[in-house]
Amino acid sequence: KLKQIAIYGKGGIGKSTTTSNISAALSVAGYKVMQFGCDPKSDSTNTLRGGDYIPTVLDTLREKTKIKAHDVIFKGFNGIYCVEAGGPAPGVGCAGRGIITAVELFKQQKVFEELDLDYVIYDVLGDVVCGGFAVPVREGIAEHVFTVSSADFMAVYAANNLFKGIHKYSKAGGALLGGVIGNSINAPYSKDIIDDFVAKTQTQVVEYVPRSVTVTQSELQGKTTIEAAPDSQQAKIYKELARKIDEHEVSKVPAPLEVSELREWAAKWGKQLVELENGVLNPQAVG
Ligand code: ATP
Ligand code: MG
Repeated sequence: KLKQIAIYGKGGIGKSTTTSNISAALSVAGYKVMQFGCDPKSDSTNTLRGGDYIPTVLDTLREKTKIKAHDVIFKGFNGIYCVEAGGPAPGVGCAGRGIITAVELFKQQKVFEELDLDYVIYDVLGDVVCGGFAVPVREGIAEHVFTVSSADFMAVYAANNLFKGIHKYSKAGGALLGGVIGNSINAPYSKDIIDDFVAKTQTQVVEYVPRSVTVTQSELQGKTTIEAAPDSQQAKIYKELARKIDEHEVSKVPAPLEVSELREWAAKWGKQLVELENGVLNPQAVG
């Protein structure tokens, strides 16, 4: 049965990198996967295609009015189907229009059924504020939403905003939250911060992904880590993440914090980190 998943998170947090490695890992595990890039930058599927950019749905539609879904589906690593929704020229119109258009096109032409897919993974954007980007959640297109977050306040803030959107649309059949994918979790306190945030918002961490130079090296070769360094520790972590997403069944409505609560929460952590640092750096305190 087809499982549709949407990945959200703050700009630059590692959505496309994480999504592509999940797609690659699921594909290597034997599933038929489509990765659907929703970012107007249309760089989601890059590392599945040797660094190559594919024409977007909106660009293709600008060239000819009647298109076949297959005009905008390109095969990448291990046969993964790659799609980029694309966007309007910067500053013109809703940046989410590409998603709406592409989803509509695929529905009409029954693409998911025809390709007999196991997974469609949407690589979306930071906030669900804009109508178009809320589509995978609002319309319940994706059954499960995951958010990529580091322990940085702005990343957590974006995750909390997403939770608000999911909470709001859940009453009308919207997608529910699978959990948080921790990214760039290297320092022990990063894990503690994420753990505390998910506890407060009644969700869970799916996996803690460290920041790794292997990811950088792979990206520079135009590849996912699964493809470029399949035996690395980082690839093992992405495979574990993919396995958990594959086994994941029940998503939930999160309990987002009010902005004031979130600020207090961050301030409390700020104080603790200063104390931690003093404790470690001050030999008297340690002795
Ligand atoms: P955008 O919002 O612009 O679409 P994004 O959330 O999709 O950004 P990515 O493009 O995946 O973010 O990642 C941004 C940069 O961070 C990339 O250069 C990527 O290689 C790097 N990166 C992401 N995760 C890791 C990691 N775990 N280790 C090392 N580098 C990482
Ligand atoms: Mg991206």
